[in-house]
Amino acid sequence: MYACNYCMPCKNGVDIPLNFSLLNDVYIYQNMGKPSGNYSFLSAKKMSASFCDECGECEEKCTQNIPIRKYLKETRETFEK
Ligand code: SF4
Repeated sequence: MYACNYCMPCKNGVDIPLNFSLLNDVYIYQNMGKPSGNYSFLSAKKMSASFCDECGECEEKCTQNIPIRKYLKETRETFEK
């Protein structure tokens, strides 16, 4: 996934590229340990996927047509299950 940052900033403070990076880490390394700790840090800073209200503004800015809301939901479900 790209990290061009065109989707940023999010009005709710969600760090979209960082959330996606953590989700990627889980798939690449098949290990929740470190990504999970980093996600907790993002949550404490109110920058995690759980602060997305699915407004869709970021998807309008995305030049790659990435379904950001869908992947943020997946991120949330991965780290908050
Ligand atoms: S859909 Fe979620 S991440 Fe995207 S701008 Fe809206 S609140 Fe932010």
